[in-house]
Amino acid sequence: LYNMVQDLKGNIRVYCRIRPTFRAESKTVTDFIGEDGSLCILDPSKTLKDGRKLFQFNRIFGPTAGQDEVYRDTQPLIRSVMDGYNVCIFAYGQTGSGKTHTMSGPSGGTSKDMGINYLALNDLFQMSSERKDNIKYEIYVQMVEIYNEQVRDLLAEDKTENKLEIRSCNDDGLSLPDARLRSVNSTTDVMTLMKLGEVNRAVSSTAINNRSSRSHSVLTVHVSGKDTSGNCIRSCLHLVDLAGSERVDKSEVTGDRLKEALYINKSLSCLGDVITALAQKNSHIPYRNSKLTLLLQDSLGGHAKTLMFAHVSPESDSFGETVSTLKFAQRVSTV
Ligand code: ADP
Ligand code: MG
Repeated sequence: LYNMVQDLKGNIRVYCRIRPTFRAESKTVTDFIGEDGSLCILDPSKTLKDGRKLFQFNRIFGPTAGQDEVYRDTQPLIRSVMDGYNVCIFAYGQTGSGKTHTMSGPSGGTSKDMGINYLALNDLFQMSSERKDNIKYEIYVQMVEIYNEQVRDLLAEDKTENKLEIRSCNDDGLSLPDARLRSVNSTTDVMTLMKLGEVNRAVSSTAINNRSSRSHSVLTVHVSGKDTSGNCIRSCLHLVDLAGSERVDKSEVTGDRLKEALYINKSLSCLGDVITALAQKNSHIPYRNSKLTLLLQDSLGGHAKTLMFAHVSPESDSFGETVSTLKFAQRVSTV
């Protein structure tokens, strides 16, 4: 049923989320937010008449939208995972625009204002318990990061042996057969694993810059269910906190920083190419051009559902990045 309702909305949807401003004195770039998913922003360097840019998405969440409001629109998609559908949810945007806030929640890991990762798992556990007389579900999670086109296991015990290779999917549907797969039964289990993942991410960070904004993190929830007559379903939910989309000035950065920037650029544009190709129903989908799209291949396209959150910082000094984020999001959108 969740799926029938969702089908009417198409398999690719794009939401935009604008975070609150933290600088009361700063001008913001949003002009208006339409109920219908339209967004108008203003170029701070131009006049009201010339500086307007209009975008159209499936939904816009303004600065006052809370985590539960955002989740309410995401929930039907999450629930379809329990009916056997693969789902990918991406958080896209420049560093500081609120990607981690949407996916994980505020830093510090209190149980207030929890993000989609937590709310989704909570929902899956609840559905599993509601349906337990008819279907026996098992839920497992994996947590990896992709940094400089190398996949690393964030749940590995041995941090020196955490590099992973992507395999073309076999019968068990695992594209990372060597990644640690942890069985989870409660949100407490998940929180514990998410904390471990965060710690491992920090430990493997060598550069002085903030690694977490330079890598993609992928939390994958594997669900398998068996009903009373022995029929099985298998599906997965990928929750992806993408690397910061900001363009770095190539004339100003060198060495490792430049290498990181080039890898991020390439993988984000590959992701854009794949989703655009799917939206246009092209016959060739360029999954193989990046580790991220290769990893998610089975959950992008076909019957799978994709949701992209385009995150925007409202301050006028972010205007350039905001336009490029919105253009990216508009390109992958089908509205
Ligand atoms: P990103 O992951 O894109 O770099 P963060 O999620 O870390 O950005 O957000 C930057 C800061 O803004 C954090 O302190 C975060 O808690 C805060 N923040 C982001 N979005 C919101 C929001 N919608 N409401 C309140 N605070 C937010
Ligand atoms: Mg972040």
